[in-house]
Amino acid sequence: MTHDFVVVGAGVSGLTSALLLAQHGHSVALVEKSGQTAPLLRGFSRRGVHFDTGFHYTGGIGKGEPLDVFFRYLGLSDRLSLLPFGARGFDTIRNVRDGFEFRFPSGYGPLRQNLLQAFPSERSAVETYLDAVRSACDSVPYLNLDASLDARGGLSRVFGPTLKETLDSLTADKILKSVLSTHCLLYGVAPEEVAFQQHACIVGSYYLSANGIAGGGRSLATAFDARLEELGVETHRGCEVTSLSVAPEGALRGVRLADGRELRCGGAVVTVHPRTMLEMVPEGAFRPAYKTRIMGLEETVSAFMLYSVSDIPLPIFSGRNLFVLPSADSLRDLGNRTLEESPLYLTAAYARPGDLPRGFIGIFPMLPETTRAWEDSRKGNRPGSYGQFKEEITRRMENLIKRYCPELAGATSLAETSTPLTVRDFGNSPSGGLYGVKHKVGQYNPVPLTRVKGLYLAGQAVTSPGVLGAVLSGFMACGNILGHDRLIKELKRCR
Ligand SMILES: Cc1cc2nc3c(=O)[nH]c(=O)nc-3n(C[C@H](O)[C@H](O)[C@H](O)COP(=O)(O)OP(=O)(O)OC[C@H]3O[C@@H](n4cnc5c(N)ncnc54)[C@H](O)[C@@H]3O)c2cc1C
Repeated sequence: MTHDFVVVGAGVSGLTSALLLAQHGHSVALVEKSGQTAPLLRGFSRRGVHFDTGFHYTGGIGKGEPLDVFFRYLGLSDRLSLLPFGARGFDTIRNVRDGFEFRFPSGYGPLRQNLLQAFPSERSAVETYLDAVRSACDSVPYLNLDASLDARGGLSRVFGPTLKETLDSLTADKILKSVLSTHCLLYGVAPEEVAFQQHACIVGSYYLSANGIAGGGRSLATAFDARLEELGVETHRGCEVTSLSVAPEGALRGVRLADGRELRCGGAVVTVHPRTMLEMVPEGAFRPAYKTRIMGLEETVSAFMLYSVSDIPLPIFSGRNLFVLPSADSLRDLGNRTLEESPLYLTAAYARPGDLPRGFIGIFPMLPETTRAWEDSRKGNRPGSYGQFKEEITRRMENLIKRYCPELAGATSLAETSTPLTVRDFGNSPSGGLYGVKHKVGQYNPVPLTRVKGLYLAGQAVTSPGVLGAVLSGFMACGNILGHDRLIKELKRCR
């Protein structure tokens, strides 16, 4: 059967793209390698506690904010119930060496006030920084429905300045700089590499508001599934796309599956990791320089992660995350530090939606190279030395968390751990990067339009990581098909 479009990969960006195309009357097939759509969002359970994997909270989903408008437009909002994070402090930054704590509240006004209270002599730095974040967000089409659709925003994400350069130009206060840089853990790129513009477009949405979703990532996946069905999207789960067929004149004509079938189509939106996409395209479809560029894209950091359960409720993680920095310097050279020098991100896990947290997830950013010695192994055939290594890392992670969070008072016990190899094998990230490829100064990431007629790219590599970034990428890719002006005009009706 021939479809108007095939969407490859049913993560958030692929699901968004499939809905957008189907909402506009196109016949769409969505193909996902995993047995379920949105595998990254579904998490897993241990000892009665559900641990989310690819979604804990998001910015910009408060009423009238960008993700709220996107979800209403996509017909998802009525299927989701938001779990508001603490308006007066959704993220606590704990700097261990300096004995300093800072709470990020919702809203630019309260954030400005908290920052000025904590750093009274840094008024000019705080105000200039917040104004710059806000104006960076305002310059991005779709995030701001009134922004112009030119490409300059994209270039400032490649040419810089970096976040570090920007902060250095504003202040000499190391603690303030570390506080304003901590959210680089949400996208996995160090402050000395990420463009200020890129950082701002991600954190700016959290400065508006921070919310979880009742039931976590699974509820979001279920909402997407229901909408796919409503719109008649033909969804192929457990089907791997092995190649794309391109006609001799250079136009895409179909998508081949591992079981030998070919889905003929007029066009495709491919949302997989860029290196995986390259493997699907026939020889000669792309120029050698493009291939070299894609193959050379650097990955975001990976992580060691620890999942713990608790016999008693853990109000410390109720509606808030805890970011621990051993010192103000801990974000530099992100991932390339010992566990003891590494920042740590702690977030809640729940036994039942609506209850107080009954567990937590601890994420220590680490380079994928940390587990390179075992990279040829897969789950089930890992050598004993890997097990010993993991045990040692687990012991150190537990000790650090005990030291950093005396509030937990030994109430928790270990349920699971994971390493960069787990991220690689279960997160569909060829090298184990938590958020796919980096967005960093000097690196040209792929854009939605390609040289192959009818082949469009979406996904976190194209715009930015996070649910908001992945949804945005779907709009950016499909805007080339459906018309950006038309999409933006329709979105404005959902404001
Ligand atoms: C530990 C962790 C925590 C996170 N926490 C948050 C958070 O709190 N908030 C937030 O907003 N974001 C968070 N993120 C980031 C967010 O989950 C991702 O940025 C987003 O889900 C990426 O969506 P995507 O569609 O671009 O990619 P993916 O979800 O990777 O989608 C690509 C899909 O393609 C499929 N695929 C791959 N190869 C093939 C093939 N050959 N054929 C068919 N299908 C294929 C994959 O199975 C996958 O489902 C987190 C990520 C991680 C790893």
